Amino acid sequence: MSLIVQKYGGTSVGSVERIQTVAQRVSKAVKAGNSVVVVVSAMGKTTDGLVKLAHEISRTPNRREMDMLLSTGEQVTIALLSMALQEIGQPAISMTGAQVGIVTEAHHTRARILHIETQRLERHLQEGKVVVVAGFQGISSTEALEITTLGRGGSDTSAVALAAALRADFCEIYTDVPGILTTDPRLVPEAQLMDEITCDEMLELASLGAKVLHPRAVEIARNYSMPLVVRSSWSDQPGTWVTSKKQQERSLVNLEIARPVDAIEFDANQTKIALLRVPDKPGVAARLFGEIAHQKVDVDLIIQSIHDGNSNDIAFTVMTPILKKAEAVAAAIAPVLRSNPTKLDEAEVLVEQNIAKVSIAGAGMIGRPGVAAKMFATLAEAGVNIQMISTSEVKVSCVVDETDCEKAVSSLVKAFDITTSPLPPSSISPSSSPVRGVALDMNQARLAIRNVPDKPGMAAKLFGLLAEHNVSVDMIIQSQRCHIIDGAPRRDIAFTVARLDAESTQLLLQEAALEYGWGEVVLDSAIAKVSVVGAGMVGQPGVAAKMFEALAQNKINIQMIATSEIKISCVVEQEQGIKALQVIHEAFGLAGSEKFVVPA
Ligand code: ASP
Ligand code: MG
Repeated sequence: MSLIVQKYGGTSVGSVERIQTVAQRVSKAVKAGNSVVVVVSAMGKTTDGLVKLAHEISRTPNRREMDMLLSTGEQVTIALLSMALQEIGQPAISMTGAQVGIVTEAHHTRARILHIETQRLERHLQEGKVVVVAGFQGISSTEALEITTLGRGGSDTSAVALAAALRADFCEIYTDVPGILTTDPRLVPEAQLMDEITCDEMLELASLGAKVLHPRAVEIARNYSMPLVVRSSWSDQPGTWVTSKKQQERSLVNLEIARPVDAIEFDANQTKIALLRVPDKPGVAARLFGEIAHQKVDVDLIIQSIHDGNSNDIAFTVMTPILKKAEAVAAAIAPVLRSNPTKLDEAEVLVEQNIAKVSIAGAGMIGRPGVAAKMFATLAEAGVNIQMISTSEVKVSCVVDETDCEKAVSSLVKAFDITTSPLPPSSISPSSSPVRGVALDMNQARLAIRNVPDKPGMAAKLFGLLAEHNVSVDMIIQSQRCHIIDGAPRRDIAFTVARLDAESTQLLLQEAALEYGWGEVVLDSAIAKVSVVGAGMVGQPGVAAKMFEALAQNKINIQMIATSEIKISCVVEQEQGIKALQVIHEAFGLAGSEKFVVPA
């Protein structure tokens, strides 16, 4: 006999018939001898409808009232599902977030769960009832009883948090797709179903997976080692298991806010190779990294920031022992680039041996704008200059001078209160398929600040300011190219934000630029970010080359590149986003033989 938390999404409970079908499935699980807690979303597109109503009345609806409004959607479903269960003879009771005692932060419309009181719920379970809990909602405290919501898509998070708090055996997420696919089937019908995926990979795929599974739910599953399965509510197919390694026991207090960073990693043995002033056109990155892959050189970080005039700088790091080969390759390719008819200034290869890579890693940084800022501020305080920055969903990596490595690591360990020892690079054995999934994010805009002084504290100031204004930053790239202005070195810093935040962020930064003497603040809203993710790409040369080659063959220009160990992201022009996704998915042989039919 197991304790199972089942969660049903909006489409799965979209009509009376569907609610009745769900009741059948729940009752089957109980008859098989399990205790079942069910978490439900609002019916169909109810939440969207409520949001629309609010916006008909106010352009900026009060957040508290928004929570009051949106939380009603789930309340309808819990009552109806409980009735449906009772109709088929299964004792059941519905409970709102407040009735259970799902206590959250007081941040309306985006609250994080602090803890869950389980006594009332457990009492009902012991009486043999199915408890049907409203997803997506909580209360700010058991005295204030202010209704909060967790942010759109938050029912998954409710379900996994409940599973963790109840120490359930596993959590099932029922949805309208058969599980997690290698990419978005609406864009690539040949997308394939995965049997399993790790939480780490899933988190890096957030922009793909978020539609299927709320990233915060994955974060909780990972932190509490809660087995999670995503399955179709229309069939009995096994679905996709989202797995995690056994973690240390964690307290269930401050469930979602405990620790945004759970590891500091470093590699003091890296070499940076920068190609300066290469033409900004399709195929350049592909050629370069194709050559490097030929030599079986495994590149680690790759960073390309926004173009400057009609040229780009592309920088990458390799582990020092294989430097000789990579340098040779870079040197070999430079003349090819130079012979470009557009008559660029000299392309140039720059090799810097004495650098180190220092990273913070942790699922908790998703949606928390202050985390990267804190890293930069910590490094600034320690007097460490950041040469390059590259970020992914769950990691921020900085390239620093090798002599600063120890100082950087020890100050970060202190700042983020890390108890485990900092990790040197791990050697994961390469698996057969280096890439698990491909994601496309069309809802971001790119901002860049030109000519930010290259000295400690600048990135801290910039991202600290954004954090203060609650702007979540996704990809951060600090480029290689350095301009000397009035005798002082300056660099561009580019990053992406949600398109909704783009214009207000630009205004905010324009003000800051005046104050701090930064250059122009450039906004481009017409971008798309396409990423490949897979734990198997570690130690496997050629993955980046293959991705860039697929883009080059389709004449898609890469505007920016950022990487983590298990992810490579490229920013391309928005119009080419879908094409980019399709050709990359194809290039990695992820396409299946059957076409996936997306349910209406
Ligand atoms: N009903 C909420 C939404 O549509 C929460 C959820 O479905 O997960 O965002
Ligand atoms: Mg959902």
